[in-house]
Amino acid sequence: MASSPLDSELRDAIAARIRFYRDIGVTDFYRRAVEAEPAPIEATLGALGPEAQVPSRMGAPGLASETGDSQQEISTIPTRKPAPALNIIPAQDRAAALQAIRDDIGNCTRCALHKGRNKIVFADGSPTARLMFVGEGPGADEDAQGLPFVGRAGQLLNNMITAMGLKREEVYIANIVKCRPPGNRTPEPDEANTCSPFLMRQIDVVGPEVIVALGATAATYLLGARQPLAGLRGRVHNVRGTKLIVTYHPAYLLRDPRQKKEAWADLQIAMRELGLKAPAKS
Ligand code: SF4
Repeated sequence: MASSPLDSELRDAIAARIRFYRDIGVTDFYRRAVEAEPAPIEATLGALGPEAQVPSRMGAPGLASETGDSQQEISTIPTRKPAPALNIIPAQDRAAALQAIRDDIGNCTRCALHKGRNKIVFADGSPTARLMFVGEGPGADEDAQGLPFVGRAGQLLNNMITAMGLKREEVYIANIVKCRPPGNRTPEPDEANTCSPFLMRQIDVVGPEVIVALGATAATYLLGARQPLAGLRGRVHNVRGTKLIVTYHPAYLLRDPRQKKEAWADLQIAMRELGLKAPAKS
């Protein structure tokens, strides 16, 4: 019997997922209820001390770009530290509260990025998510569909979410800027500083327990400080009363799959903070 296009898509998706697991060294499939001990994160990353014990690298040259390339300077300079979150919104009111933010954005022309966009990319996922992912900004696929992380990098992010034992619809996904920068360039500081307050409001409404910053630009504007990616990974930060983990952007991992293992170590920190079990080692 001939296979349907759906069968073929499903096969491709499963194959991609298996490749991702293999790349990050997972050889046994994850089950949320497994009793196995989490993988020895500390052995890989070193002890996770409080943020205050780690020397500040603010102002250091060679800020990592969105791609994770520590040699490439980018001009992302937040103008202020994000303010702490003020309220916890009841779960049943969060969808409406997020819609109110979307309504406030409207057909936004607050920064220059509106000129080249097709669709504003607000967010995707659950208004009551325990885990939130924040990227830099929409690419071509996202601009066309109005959803974050739906291209190849989005497929990889989906695989990362699955590897954590979660579904995409259980997490919340957004970006620092909601309109596509021309040619996928890094958002200019005035663009990111104009748009990111909407993201901060989204964070306050969703109230995730853990945020994962995907790449240096997301980390820069969430933390309100310009630091190299290498100095931010491997430890738990605090943003608006929420734990923040920093890892590579999936687009960078597509270009350099060798770093997937490092990204997986970062995601294991997030899993530990969420009380999720790591996959059992075979
Ligand atoms: Fe408005 Fe943000 Fe789009 Fe700029 S990037 S036009 S601030 S929605």
